[in-house]
Amino acid sequence: MSQITDRINRLKAELPDDVMLVAVSKFHPVEAVVEAYRAGQRVFGESRPQELLAKVRALETSGLCPDIRWHFIGHLQTNKLKMVLPYVSMVESVDSVHLLDAIDRWGRENNTVTDVLLEYHIAAEETKQGFGRDEILSIVTSPARMNVRLRGLMGMATFTDDQTLVRSDFSRLMSLYGEIIRMRDEGKCPSAGREFNIRSFGMTHDYRIAVAMGADVVRIGTLIFGEREAVVK
Ligand SMILES: *Cc1c(COP(=O)(O)O)cnc(C)c1O
Repeated sequence: MSQITDRINRLKAELPDDVMLVAVSKFHPVEAVVEAYRAGQRVFGESRPQELLAKVRALETSGLCPDIRWHFIGHLQTNKLKMVLPYVSMVESVDSVHLLDAIDRWGRENNTVTDVLLEYHIAAEETKQGFGRDEILSIVTSPARMNVRLRGLMGMATFTDDQTLVRSDFSRLMSLYGEIIRMRDEGKCPSAGREFNIRSFGMTHDYRIAVAMGADVVRIGTLIFGEREAVVK
């Protein structure tokens, strides 16, 4: 059995049934995606529009992965929407109102509703993207945008071996999530309906902590596909 298949099988055996695994295939070739698909993996994550599109096209042509689904997990510029939105089942990384409005507008023009997560900046690093708490509360309490469906929150913890810090990052996400659910149930969140029910956090180095703390989507790349080549921009 190849490594990718083996690693997918082990992860599936380990993760609770109600936790969705997003296999993050960025910087890995389409052959790696096909192999993971053959091992039963269906949902994949990509962070760059060009790379996503290249993989989508290659797989369309080959017909190898008919029911594959993509989550977009990287920073998305509004001028790249048409390279991404037709091909993904979810954008996990909405990090500005400008982007949210643009996705909504694109949906109106193309007669679709896009599932999105709001990216919450929980890490200590300034470099990571995402909203602050008040910005997220302001979005969920504002009138609903008809062509986006807010599905929940996404976050990335500080990159550190300090588990206490990782836990405190994740717990901020869980507590904001809980706050939104309470407010929603009191009728105060016109933008967050019943389908606002996803907590996406946890990657290769911290997914076990994430699952223990209430994540129901984990996004794992390195543990499945191996180390990525140096990031080329
Ligand atoms: C790259 C990436 C991941 C996967 O990271 P690994 O450490 O390789 O598991 C998860 N989420 C986001 C947003 C990413 O950009």
